[in-house]
Amino acid sequence: MSKTIGLSVFTHRQGRRFVRIAALAAWTTLAIGLNASLDAAPPLEDLRQKIRSGEYEAVIRGTNEGIDQRQFGEDWYLIKAEAESALGRYGLAWETVQAGLQRYNWSIRLRGLGIAAANYAGESAKAKLLLAEIQDLAGRAAWRYTDSDNLVMLGKISLAAGADARQVLETFFDRVLQHFPSHREALIASGELALAKHDLELAAELFHTAAKHYPDDAEIQFGLCRALAASEPDQSSIAWQAAMKANPRFVPAMLFRVENLIDQERYEQAGFLLEQISQVNPQHPLAGAYRSILASLTNDPKGAIVCRDAALTSWKENPEVDHLIGRMLSRKYRFAEGSAAQQRALKFDPKHLAAKMQLAQDWLRLGKEEDGWKLAEAVHEADGYDVQMFNLLQLKDELSRFVTLEEPPFQVRMEAREAKVYGRDVVELLQQAKTRLGEKYGWTPDTPIIVEIFPKPNDFAVRTFGMPGVSGFLGVCFGTVITANSPASQKERPANWQAVLWHEYCHVVTLELTHHRIPRWLSEGISVYEEQQAHAAWGQQMNPEYRKRILNGRLTPIRQLSGAFLQPESPKDLQFAYFQSAMVVDFLVKRYGFVMLKKVLDDLASGVEIGHALERHAADLDQMDAEFRADAAEQAKQLGYGLDWETYDLSAIIDDDDSDRLARWVEDHPTSLSGLLALAKQSIQARKWDQAVPPLQRLINLYPEQTGGDSAYVLLAAVQRQRKDAKAEREILQTYVPKDDAPAASLFRLIELQQKDRDWAGVMAAAAQLRGIQPLSPVLHRAQAQAAEELGRWPEAMSALEALLELAPDDQADLHFRLARAYHELKSPAAKRHVLMALEHAPRYRAAQELLLEIVATVPSGQEPNTPKTSITPKTEATPKPAAKKSK
Ligand SMILES: [Zn+2]
Repeated sequence: MSKTIGLSVFTHRQGRRFVRIAALAAWTTLAIGLNASLDAAPPLEDLRQKIRSGEYEAVIRGTNEGIDQRQFGEDWYLIKAEAESALGRYGLAWETVQAGLQRYNWSIRLRGLGIAAANYAGESAKAKLLLAEIQDLAGRAAWRYTDSDNLVMLGKISLAAGADARQVLETFFDRVLQHFPSHREALIASGELALAKHDLELAAELFHTAAKHYPDDAEIQFGLCRALAASEPDQSSIAWQAAMKANPRFVPAMLFRVENLIDQERYEQAGFLLEQISQVNPQHPLAGAYRSILASLTNDPKGAIVCRDAALTSWKENPEVDHLIGRMLSRKYRFAEGSAAQQRALKFDPKHLAAKMQLAQDWLRLGKEEDGWKLAEAVHEADGYDVQMFNLLQLKDELSRFVTLEEPPFQVRMEAREAKVYGRDVVELLQQAKTRLGEKYGWTPDTPIIVEIFPKPNDFAVRTFGMPGVSGFLGVCFGTVITANSPASQKERPANWQAVLWHEYCHVVTLELTHHRIPRWLSEGISVYEEQQAHAAWGQQMNPEYRKRILNGRLTPIRQLSGAFLQPESPKDLQFAYFQSAMVVDFLVKRYGFVMLKKVLDDLASGVEIGHALERHAADLDQMDAEFRADAAEQAKQLGYGLDWETYDLSAIIDDDDSDRLARWVEDHPTSLSGLLALAKQSIQARKWDQAVPPLQRLINLYPEQTGGDSAYVLLAAVQRQRKDAKAEREILQTYVPKDDAPAASLFRLIELQQKDRDWAGVMAAAAQLRGIQPLSPVLHRAQAQAAEELGRWPEAMSALEALLELAPDDQADLHFRLARAYHELKSPAAKRHVLMALEHAPRYRAAQELLLEIVATVPSGQEPNTPKTSITPKTEATPKPAAKKSK
């Protein structure tokens, strides 16, 4: 430590006389040697180690001895007060600070620690006084506080007083680290600052560096744990364990785990852990805040108030308590209560940036956009460093370029080009969902529902999670705000956006219906279930992987199902959690009737806990779990019932020189999945197309529900293509596409075959399905335009041609001419405008000239076209189109 640089060192023995020693290395060493030989208080470094490993009582004893022996240094008091605070003895900690100040009245570090101690001891006025004294001391004798420890403390105090974060970083923490790159406190303070500003990469870097110097340090490991929580959950969990190993009584890490358990809806365990925390520190205000949250989440509003009051007993205006309560409620999608809590925190401390930031996010998620953006801008102005706010405001710029399609209750925001191409489809789908689910669940919105569709995945992530780089989600619902990734953002295998929006709108219904008091699993389960109800191919279907999981007994108990969403071990586990939840909902409806589900939702709305609600209207959870497991196993067995699912190791047979050996094996095992698949693949590899047909056909017969890119359908279609049997290929594709929710490649191929056969109705059907997957594909719109023209289905022709003008306007003369023809067929005056535009691009366009003459002959003069310029993909001229307007 460099504490004594530039200052004199005093030692004192037996309380008799002072010896003044110059700050020379040799003398300092001597001084330490003398102290050690006294058989007195343990050395400070020992006590520091002890406080870091949670031996708080021993630290208090040790520091008491040192203080009694009048050992020199403010650290004796600092460490003592720190240990007392860790045990919740705030009054004593405050006394210790005051005693320390009597001896070291110039100490800034004691005052810095004293601010918290005084606040927690119910002496807020004294805390303010200390801050003023620090400013005075540092102003009058700045030279005195230029050593590392004081610089770090001054940085922390400046931050708490609302100083600019970047400036603090440069003036204080960086300055220390330049001279002492391994300074523990400076590394921790910089890391904590980066964490607070959501600069997670920098935070991880700083804590990694710190961990190299101090590998078994709870505070550092815990910093690392939080920095990695979002990006590397496994590493984060290892760091958490390391922190707890270093200090098993480290309350901040224990509270972090409480938060985790609450996220997973494991409220009982969270309560147990809070009990353990109170054995270390019975007064911890944030533990009180978590108790209040638990009460809120378990339908105990009175308990919530009592616990909050208890958390505020000593420091009555502690903004952290309400900030935490609000943040946690918002994590449970209870944004209205969450924002109210942030407002309470801001009443206590109007400068509390984190509360303001959270409030801005809450408002944006509640659809209170004007207030939300205004506050976000104010926060950014006050604090230019925060990464989350910076990202959010960049997104605001992006959003200002979106258009809004308004059709009550929906306000759909999309990129202008996307809105023109499939905006109408989006609005129609949402209206359908509103009607269908509204009738079923008895709920229709009375406030606007905002739907935002993002072509850039990072914009979606920032809007949804507050940070870029979060992937794997197609859409998210906050209640009355839905965000979704557009098909443009999903390059490889785009999902079905219609199913996604159906799913998200169903969340709107269940969240609003229950006042956001629905467990995660049930909300997801109902959303996936309703996808399946809306369309046989939507939602998730039983597949070999799920079959295996169920039959191997890997179903999660219903009680723990929400946890499976919040801490999945792999993306596959998460997918399965969705599927299982939908299965549970399906089981409940089958077994107890849909009315029962409705009653459960009503109960949840009035605050009844899910277990009780299910027990009241169905059965107790354990019994239900058992029945559900049996039912799920039955369904799993039904999948490919006649198929032999055993995985045989056929490698030796496949590699055999005798290429017929596999075929003979399959003859003996005619229903083996592995065998049939291996045989088909062997034949495909050998380009023996005819031989590949029978095993694939048999696989389809035995397991007709299979979907996905590697299903026997897709393989068989490819084989038939090689055999140049277009009829068979078409048939197989036609059977397959209705079974899959996003069979884009198969649909493109099917359309090609149908076009060759001039099966225009077929093309129209395939194109309609493709619009739900890849609406931005020009190939799709070209096919739809041609088929619709052939069939004289002019509104659909127009919609496709308009889309082509946006997506692939290479032949504008042709597109405008065809649009003019379609409008003319519908006797719309817009025909003239389009034919004139066609002629503008190609003045000698003969057919266009003739069409113009025809139009002029039929339209009486004076009646000019008055169609809006930015019409969006109209289905029919009769239905009014929502006007596309720039959003603010
Ligand atoms: Zn969902």
